[in-house]
Amino acid sequence: MARRGSVWTAALRTPVGACSAVLLALVVVLSVLAPLLWGDGAAAIDTDAIGQGPSGAHPFGTDSLGRDLLLRTLVATRLSVGLAVLATAIGAGTGVVLGTLPSVLPRRVGRLLTAVVDIAVAFPGLLLALFLAVIFGVGTHGAVLAIGFAMAPAFARLVQTLSASVSGRDFVAAARIAGVGRARLLARHVLPNIGEPLVVNATIGAGSALLAFAGLSFLGIGVQAPDYDWGRLLREGLDGIYVNPAAALAPAAAVVLAGLAFNLVGETVAAVVGVRTRARRRGAPPRPAARPALAQPPADAVLVVENLRVAFPGPDGWTVPVRGVSFSVRAGEAIGVVGESGSGKSLTALAVSRLVEAPGVVTADRLEFAGTPLAEASDRELGTALAMVFQDPMTSFNPARRVGGQLAEVSEQHHGLSRRAAFARAVDRLAAVRVPAAERRARQYPHEFSGGMRQRAMIGMGLMGRPKLIVADEPTTALDVTVQRQVLRLLARTRETEGAAILLISHDIAVVSQTCERMLVMYAGRIVEDLPTGSPARHPYTRALLATTVDLETDRDRPLEVIPGRPPEPDQVPEGCAFAARCPLASERCRTEDPVLEPAADGHRVACWHPQVTALSGQSHEEGAA
Ligand code: SF4
Repeated sequence: MARRGSVWTAALRTPVGACSAVLLALVVVLSVLAPLLWGDGAAAIDTDAIGQGPSGAHPFGTDSLGRDLLLRTLVATRLSVGLAVLATAIGAGTGVVLGTLPSVLPRRVGRLLTAVVDIAVAFPGLLLALFLAVIFGVGTHGAVLAIGFAMAPAFARLVQTLSASVSGRDFVAAARIAGVGRARLLARHVLPNIGEPLVVNATIGAGSALLAFAGLSFLGIGVQAPDYDWGRLLREGLDGIYVNPAAALAPAAAVVLAGLAFNLVGETVAAVVGVRTRARRRGAPPRPAARPALAQPPADAVLVVENLRVAFPGPDGWTVPVRGVSFSVRAGEAIGVVGESGSGKSLTALAVSRLVEAPGVVTADRLEFAGTPLAEASDRELGTALAMVFQDPMTSFNPARRVGGQLAEVSEQHHGLSRRAAFARAVDRLAAVRVPAAERRARQYPHEFSGGMRQRAMIGMGLMGRPKLIVADEPTTALDVTVQRQVLRLLARTRETEGAAILLISHDIAVVSQTCERMLVMYAGRIVEDLPTGSPARHPYTRALLATTVDLETDRDRPLEVIPGRPPEPDQVPEGCAFAARCPLASERCRTEDPVLEPAADGHRVACWHPQVTALSGQSHEEGAA
């Protein structure tokens, strides 16, 4: 809190911050006090002072009824600013509703609404306000509604963009996989995290609303007599500009200063907060290539994946980072997925957790979880039976909510527990994953946890239900070695006590070897080898990965092994074997024919035209793969 306070203090010490604070204070004080102090004086008609120019008694002169223009300008502050703020509130409120509705409405209706917002945004704001003012009618109410609704499309667009950026965050995915409904997801996880940029935009929008209001009143379709705002005063002043040029000066200066105040406040808030994002899609994804079907999966399989593909639209067509992946996971089994960055292992994990966001497209010949097609499983079913542990424990939790509350939400949603009972279960689960002083910790925010403790709490969240499968995507990458070991032990213990299968994604083959009994090696979006961790590796890529593993036995006098070259980009996968350019055994056949994943031994599949069976030099296969 102190840090946040110091950020604001620093912002207010800048020239922009100081000016905005002074101007805003002036506007607020005048809005409150001016009508009380000078309301009667501003309304007093003086037939002896009609249409006078500036003088000591009337610094900006008088109007056609002898009323003092300075007092009238000061008194008009309340109405002018009040109406602008009201219109902004209508615009922001309507914008938030329009911007969030597409997320909760059926897809077609949502798209239609988005298209309507897009068309409305294309209209210049003032033109739209004029159009709406005609519809709502002349007068204060009509003008407020017109300006408010004219501002709404821009707010709606902003909400859509910000929501899209937050929806991709891990803590939202965690809530979704926990089965939190769309409306609740929006209300509890998305909106609280886009509030600050919305406030920034609303503050700047209030300045625009002020100008728009002055414009409508100036045109005679805003505030009507006997009420008056700065726009009306400006119009009256311009009517007599040849008699008293100063008459238009006071309201014009007031509009400029108040508009400046709002914009500078917005700039100051924006400087403290800061935000940005975007998204896109095009055409239909390419049809999946035919791949050989997976051998009959075991009867106790909790996850069956056959010819899984994940595609994303790009500027030059579709990119397919996962290109036909097939495997199954048995109940209680621990399977590791290894490969370099960009091999498609994390996307595979997201696809089987139903977390690939649009515009990504997931297709598969068969994708079943616990005997049910994944696409047909309800969020509630999936939420209790499938747990996800993400790479970055900091982004896995909503930073604005206490850890215990986030865990408890799972039981409130799925088990119908009361808030108190759900919280008690959350404390129990935190204790189960060895978070010390679980009750006190449950009342803390994620930033008060250490990295390892957050990761344990994330596993605890998965245990709020009865998970059949825990998908852990690089769960130890962000942790130091000691904590990494603790988390791996916890996963192994959880598997024993809960009977849950584990799909562990990692770039570290040693981590997978310690934790899993089977290993899937991925390269360029395909599984190139599927082997028990105690078996000798046969694929040149797996062997190269093993050769680069460093441990305490590694000869420090010899240079470290590296795999030459880089994996191909997902949109530039070559014909034939994708590893051919880096493979020392590549033949002509390898460069033209794509090898298929085929059984090489019992429980061992390999996709290679020249699989190896000899031991790695200086390292037995047992040591290497297990
Ligand atoms: S198919 Fe050929 S290029 Fe590919 S890994 Fe096997 S030997 Fe190497």
